[in-house]
Amino acid sequence: MPALDSGIEYLKGVGPQRADVLKKELGIFLCRDLLFHFPFRYIDRTRFHRIREIANEGEPVQVKGILRRLEMVGEGRARRLSGTLRDETGSLDLVWFQAVHWLEKSLHIGKEYIVYGKVNEFNGRFSISHPEMEEANPDNLQRPRSFEPVYPTTDKLSQKGLDARGLRKIIRTLLDGLAPGDLPETLPPYLLERFRLPQRFQALEKIHFPESQKELDEAIRRLKFEELFFLQLRLLQIRARRKSATKGFVFEKIGDFFNAFYHQKLPFELTGAQKRVLKEIRVDFASGKQMNRLVQGDVGSGKTVVALMAMLMALDNQLDGIPFQACLMAPTEILAQQHYDNLSALLGDLGVNIGFLSGTVKGKKREAILAQLRSGDMHIVIGTHALIEPWVEFQNLGLSIIDEQHRFGVEQRAKLWAKNPAGPPHVLVMTATPIPRTLAMTLYGDLDVSVIDELPPGRKPIDTIHKTEHHRLRVQGIMREEIAKGRQVYVVYPMIEETEKMDLQNLMAGFEALSRDFPMPEYQISIVHGKMKAQDKDYEMQRFVRGETQIMVATTVIEVGVNVPNASVMVIENAERFGLSQLHQLRGRVGRGAEQSFCILLSSVKLSHEGRERLQIMVGTNDGFKIAEADLRLRGPGNIEGTQQSGMLRFLLADLARDAQVLSAARDTAAEILTQDPGLQLPEHASLRRHLDSTGREAKIWSRIS
Ligand code: ADP
Ligand code: MG
Repeated sequence: MPALDSGIEYLKGVGPQRADVLKKELGIFLCRDLLFHFPFRYIDRTRFHRIREIANEGEPVQVKGILRRLEMVGEGRARRLSGTLRDETGSLDLVWFQAVHWLEKSLHIGKEYIVYGKVNEFNGRFSISHPEMEEANPDNLQRPRSFEPVYPTTDKLSQKGLDARGLRKIIRTLLDGLAPGDLPETLPPYLLERFRLPQRFQALEKIHFPESQKELDEAIRRLKFEELFFLQLRLLQIRARRKSATKGFVFEKIGDFFNAFYHQKLPFELTGAQKRVLKEIRVDFASGKQMNRLVQGDVGSGKTVVALMAMLMALDNQLDGIPFQACLMAPTEILAQQHYDNLSALLGDLGVNIGFLSGTVKGKKREAILAQLRSGDMHIVIGTHALIEPWVEFQNLGLSIIDEQHRFGVEQRAKLWAKNPAGPPHVLVMTATPIPRTLAMTLYGDLDVSVIDELPPGRKPIDTIHKTEHHRLRVQGIMREEIAKGRQVYVVYPMIEETEKMDLQNLMAGFEALSRDFPMPEYQISIVHGKMKAQDKDYEMQRFVRGETQIMVATTVIEVGVNVPNASVMVIENAERFGLSQLHQLRGRVGRGAEQSFCILLSSVKLSHEGRERLQIMVGTNDGFKIAEADLRLRGPGNIEGTQQSGMLRFLLADLARDAQVLSAARDTAAEILTQDPGLQLPEHASLRRHLDSTGREAKIWSRIS
């Protein structure tokens, strides 16, 4: 029996030729890889169904009966092989649409077969398409009633005898040759006991060859737990190491700037969630370690003022007598400008010197800002990517805030770190894209996460309406009414790279139609899309921001962060083509003032099942976290924005959308163990350390992504 780490060709029944296809087709090189090639489904052989008992369409059944009829029926493309199977209780149709001649010859009327497949119902009669057929003989009638594994395979493999049945055989051979010592337990006994998990060896055997549903469920639960637990253990270790390794500036003092703002300028009472997050930031500032914190908060939850107050805390503190500075970086010029205007207004005459820097700030203005940042005369700078350029130097940068982290890569964050030779500034990342808890734990497992889960009081929930394009006139009616009240309207079109040309045509056609229905001079319309020059875009945007135009026709370039409180209607064309999180972001552009706002989802009449579900979810809830959970469920974690390249979300078994509970347990347990035994030095944790070391290679990638 070859060891688990020997080449697959040494396994009995494989040999060089089959090994070659296994490598090419399934990436199976070692015996170990084969062991981790898990079934994707199981055939329930635990019982034979009686034909009369079959009740539900879609149910997988195993029946035993005599083949009573077998004939070719239908013409042309509808031609098919059709049969009837009969047991003591009734009869059932069997249908094959392909490979019929070969099958016709191999099946025999009058013989007894074991038949397996999913039942369909048609005209009140049950049938099975492409059933698995086995001639009944004493052998297979007496074989243990169990769950038979079905493995992912390919045509090339089947040609080499490695179809589902062939794979089953070599995996059985592999398992039979293994001793428990070949697959040492990775979890300490007390964890197995606490969570009632089967041993690793047993779980790996039972995931291939379970004898009951219960055994299968337990094996899967054990292996999922293991997968998630070790990931969390690793992430928490990285975080702990980084925290102890990276010294941070200490901001202990709450001083004049902060107090003056809080008592004289803050125009409203902070929400409970805002207060809580500020406290969390304060604790980080006082800890002596560098802060790396993500603040998640739905659109409109009031992240800006939290950012400002954190910056004021920085300004009130010093290093060797030199006060700290702060910067805030936004992904687009317009957003940065808005933050600048907004924060300047909030600060008023407080005496904070705040500046704006982007690629468009040129000449003397630019020189002056750069000089003031170097000398320390400027306290806060708001800007775009331009802030991380090497020629932007600070006297003493203490805090960097990044708005909307998805547009900022790891490298850019690293550049920010280097902006202060005395040490890395604290980093606060703010995002309005809610990430489900399960995903945040994994993606940002090494960041601290704060959540602003409460909206400021008095907001009227946005009224979301789904209409098909037949009701365009009604939608225009709502637009007219709102504009008559002095409000403004967005009309957004999808723009996707693959269909860009057509999308652009759509947008222009829509713009022209709107110009006819909302004619000048009564109405003014802005248009913004990604193909326009930055200057023109900016000009059109500013006209809308200033209220000179009532309607803004745009693609998703407006998605991130623009703030026009007077806008009360968001019309989304072809809404079925947008993803949930995008729809939610777009909706967040309205409902920023005190007035009732509307989000109108226009779609075609015919919708896919998933498309309809998305729109229903939007109509049903305004809660960004609920939407993110639904998004994860509908699309799977690989498609959630910002996670695409992240290999760490590829699991063998675990599914972040479904296994939230297992993940929480894994996370809590990992945290508990590391608190008790940070270096995993205790004898009962030796198996954990060993497993982490042996899988350490891939882990390097994870530590890099954050
Ligand atoms: P976002 O989290 O989307 O960045 P903003 O910071 O832009 O949200 O805040 C949205 C609006 O809510 C702003 O007009 C802001 O002044 C206001 N706001 C923030 N916090 C509060 C609060 N505690 N009470 C009332 N209004 C608030
Ligand atoms: Mg914001």
